[in-house]
Amino acid sequence: MNFASNDYLGLAGDERLQAAAISSIKTHGTGSTGSRLLSGHRLVHEELEGAISAWKRTEDAIVYSSGYLANIGTIAALVDKRDLIVGDEYNHSSLKNGAKLSGARILDYRHSNVTDLHNQLQKTRHNYRRCLLLTDSVFSMDGDLCPLPEILNLAHQYDCMVLVDEAHGTGVLGPTGAGCVEHFDCSGVPLIQMGTMSKALGSLGGYVAGTAQLIDYLRNRAATWIYTTGLSPADTAAALAAIQIIQSRPQRREQLWQNVAQLKEAISKLPRVIDGEWKLLPSDSPIMCLQMKSPEIVLKVSQELLEKGIYAPAIRPPTVPTSRIRFSVMATHQSEQIDRLATILEAG
Ligand SMILES: *Cc1c(COP(=O)(O)O)cnc(C)c1O
Repeated sequence: MNFASNDYLGLAGDERLQAAAISSIKTHGTGSTGSRLLSGHRLVHEELEGAISAWKRTEDAIVYSSGYLANIGTIAALVDKRDLIVGDEYNHSSLKNGAKLSGARILDYRHSNVTDLHNQLQKTRHNYRRCLLLTDSVFSMDGDLCPLPEILNLAHQYDCMVLVDEAHGTGVLGPTGAGCVEHFDCSGVPLIQMGTMSKALGSLGGYVAGTAQLIDYLRNRAATWIYTTGLSPADTAAALAAIQIIQSRPQRREQLWQNVAQLKEAISKLPRVIDGEWKLLPSDSPIMCLQMKSPEIVLKVSQELLEKGIYAPAIRPPTVPTSRIRFSVMATHQSEQIDRLATILEAG
């Protein structure tokens, strides 16, 4: 039983995605053969970009060959050494490395701490031309959500751009699964919405959705889009099929949240959680972390789970500040499987 997958909706094994990928290969071949600006552009890329922007309720979207490339290329295109980047300390590696590549001055604020963000902006914003705020929407090693409405207020007050990384929010959060931006009802606010097709969409590739002006600018300036081969026809078509399924079938997302609730309740009833030896970290997503006292203990528990047929990795410093077992729940987990996980944890 896999409790470590990013395939939240179980779409990576879905027959409709497979059929879409195969059909796209038959039409376009296995490789896209060049940069999107030269021989690598296919109609299916445009269809996917149209589906993403309609779903995210933005004017346009651009798809990159991975989420990592989307972040580093977008950030480096938007700001340079005259500018300021302020980001959450727990942000994903791709946001942090994009910031470094851009050459902008980089400041971190304490995790989800809007007061700290405000203080930093107050002290430094006026010394720079542009300012870009960066945050994960769902923090991948914790499972909690960023305080998006508060961040957007500060961005408005201090004239900053905001890029929100919806890698773990897309397909999972919001009434139509469009992500954390939809969850917080912030779709109309100026915002750069980035995400990946490699998680809940069960495929590969990254995207940025935003204004037509932003996307046009990125098509002309983002080196990781211009100087790399276009996303493969199979991955593109699979991602498009995934979006169509997510939009037309909310049942998968409902099942996912039901499973999340089941595991959360089971974990909160574990004797070791009740007596405070283990701690369930705050989570608003299918990512749930059980914090334990030491790296040795999490390794031991993770090993015991593995021996009983469950994969849930031990995540330790320096990746995270405190040791924990990280579970990620899927819509395709059976209720009995979640019960079994809880029973094993209880005995362990
Ligand atoms: C996985 C992930 C990415 C990178 O996406 P890929 O498509 O796998 O390259 C970026 N940001 C966050 C928060 C992620 O979890």
